[in-house]
Amino acid sequence: MTDEKTSAPPLRAAKGDFRWEGVELRAYKDESTAPFKGVSRQTLASDPNLDAELRYFEVEPGGHSTLERHEHMHSVMIVVGQGRVLIGSEVYSVKPQDLVTIAGWTWHQFRASADEKLGFLCLVNAKRDRPQLPTVDEAAELRANPRLAEFFDFARP
Ligand code: MN
Repeated sequence: MTDEKTSAPPLRAAKGDFRWEGVELRAYKDESTAPFKGVSRQTLASDPNLDAELRYFEVEPGGHSTLERHEHMHSVMIVVGQGRVLIGSEVYSVKPQDLVTIAGWTWHQFRASADEKLGFLCLVNAKRDRPQLPTVDEAAELRANPRLAEFFDFARP
């Protein structure tokens, strides 16, 4: 138990359309560090007394998160829109209220459909390792899987 003060007030009211009082709308990640398209990030819960962080990500229609893997896992709930998720060597269509679990060291990428955004809550460890991107060989291996090749081509202009 600790009496350390928490960083958020008891209530941060919803402002509508997945924005909240006192929550900054940020870039998904530094554009120079990894490829992605049309993704925003809001950190909903991050506190020294909490071993986890809760984030809300929103992918624009036709956009996608970075294809990556890392030791830490993700626990995700889709909350708005429509899209597909690559997890390991499978691709899943997702809709609001679907629960998505991404185990450690599993390749993953979220793609919004061409005409609808995709918004999801993502729970992660507060202390976590940095994501790895696929090497050229690993990317070729993923593309060699017909199910995944179709997914990668899905949002290509
Ligand atoms: Mn990740």
